[in-house]
Amino acid sequence: MPSYALHWFRRDLRVAGNPALAHAWKASQGRVLGFFCFDPTFLKRPDFSVNRFRFFLETLAALKEELRNLGSDLLVLDGGPEASFKTLWEELPQAPSLVTFNRDYEPFARARDEKITGLLRPLCEVWTEADHVLIEPEDVTKKDGAYQVFTPFQRKWLEAFTTEKVQTRIDAQKAGLGYLQGRISGKTQKLFSLDWERACPRLHKADQLAVYLDKVKSTVPLPPAGSLAAYRVLQDFAPKLAQYGKNRDFPSEAGTSHFSIYLKNGSLTIAQAIAGLGLKGFGKHAASGRDKFLSELIWREFYYAVLYHFPHVEHTAFQERFKDIAWENRADWFEAWKEGRTGYPLVDAGMRQLKQTGWMHNRVRMVVASFLTKDLLIDWKWGERHFMHLLLDGDLAPNNGGWQWAASTGCDAQPYFRIFNPYLQSQKFDPKGDYIRKYVPELSGLTAKQIHEPPQVRGYPSPIVDHAVMRAKALALYGEKK
Ligand SMILES: Cc1cc2nc3c(=O)[nH]c(=O)nc-3n(C[C@H](O)[C@H](O)[C@H](O)COP(=O)(O)OP(=O)(O)OC[C@H]3O[C@@H](n4cnc5c(N)ncnc54)[C@H](O)[C@@H]3O)c2cc1C
Repeated sequence: MPSYALHWFRRDLRVAGNPALAHAWKASQGRVLGFFCFDPTFLKRPDFSVNRFRFFLETLAALKEELRNLGSDLLVLDGGPEASFKTLWEELPQAPSLVTFNRDYEPFARARDEKITGLLRPLCEVWTEADHVLIEPEDVTKKDGAYQVFTPFQRKWLEAFTTEKVQTRIDAQKAGLGYLQGRISGKTQKLFSLDWERACPRLHKADQLAVYLDKVKSTVPLPPAGSLAAYRVLQDFAPKLAQYGKNRDFPSEAGTSHFSIYLKNGSLTIAQAIAGLGLKGFGKHAASGRDKFLSELIWREFYYAVLYHFPHVEHTAFQERFKDIAWENRADWFEAWKEGRTGYPLVDAGMRQLKQTGWMHNRVRMVVASFLTKDLLIDWKWGERHFMHLLLDGDLAPNNGGWQWAASTGCDAQPYFRIFNPYLQSQKFDPKGDYIRKYVPELSGLTAKQIHEPPQVRGYPSPIVDHAVMRAKALALYGEKK
């Protein structure tokens, strides 16, 4: 049999504009097999989320179907990458001459990739590409190391953005977007010419995806999964982009993109979003909403770079002085926060949105995170973990970054003495109370004036803490660490 390539899918669950898959395709004239393996270590992580995993499985199922329609297939194995690659090499009558994958930047994934690359190199060629971030952490540094402040990071990122290397990557996405548009119009094509049934019937039968899909159920309604669904979300957002700057902070406006759920598993990438929305760099757009949106994408890249260069943030505060704050950590307050029963309407609406939908608006994420750490004096790591359990877009780098920002323990974080007032945040960002009414129906009869700091309402708790008192306590607690 002529030589062929194996593409190892991880956080790049799409065909369109997938750089390492495209390399495999070119190098082997379309003779590419897709492969994914579950990692038991990952499934046992304390921040594992059953709902996000179900969404991941549905994304894998959409990818498998897409690959089959294109003439290839996806094999899903259990048992971790080391054991799975061993099985492949034992079972395949002829081993692949090339293995490709897109790079990952989390500490766990980097160690895994280094190990697997070491094992594979003596057996075949290994080729990797950048995909999950637009500009890799090593490419946005200064003379004396990594950036710790967002604004200069963004400046450097924007310089790199205009380079030929990065613009070529963005341009390369246009063909992928055209392919997705073709799929919407029902165009079918056979891009690949090798599948698992032909390559190895025994492995083909060993596929585990259906077993997992059968076992794992979600507790929230999930959005449609897969790269075509992500492309539709991209198309839906395009006309809203010009107003993004104006609407993005108002949770009742539906003014944000909802890309995060798809970015997390790579059914959409930042390069694709930038190509699809025609983002050109700061000051190059008539509407400032575009600049603001690009800036948010850069925040994501910033947090990836922080995790990459300072991996200790995964387990502890970025700032040494805030590593051992004497949190009060009251279990009953934590429970009230999780259940959306703190008596602070905007906080409760956000926590209920999270529980009911697996997503929360960014402004409200900031408010509830600030409330947990500065009003309830509970360790940000408790909140970070709870978010990871429930968020469909739960992603180590931006989640850790968001929590450390709100808790004032991160790099370029909110200064500890600037504490959100949950009532004022509510008046400013949910002025009519529509968002609160949607998620806290007990308060739906109140006027826009009453709803932010409500009078006693049957079935709704009184505030569990006094904001002014807790603010003073937080200032003292953080102040000790100055
Ligand atoms: C405490 C806290 C926890 C968070 N946890 C996560 C998480 O687990 N996963 C996650 O993807 N984002 C997280 N964020 C960032 C942000 O809230 C979400 O990315 C955003 O709400 C997703 O909705 P969207 O796609 O509609 O965003 P949009 O406003 O449409 O933004 C577009 C994209 O830009 C990126 N982005 C936007 N805001 C931020 C930000 N503040 N930081 C980093 N990237 C950003 C995201 O990739 C987002 O999809 C967190 C923020 C906070 C304050």
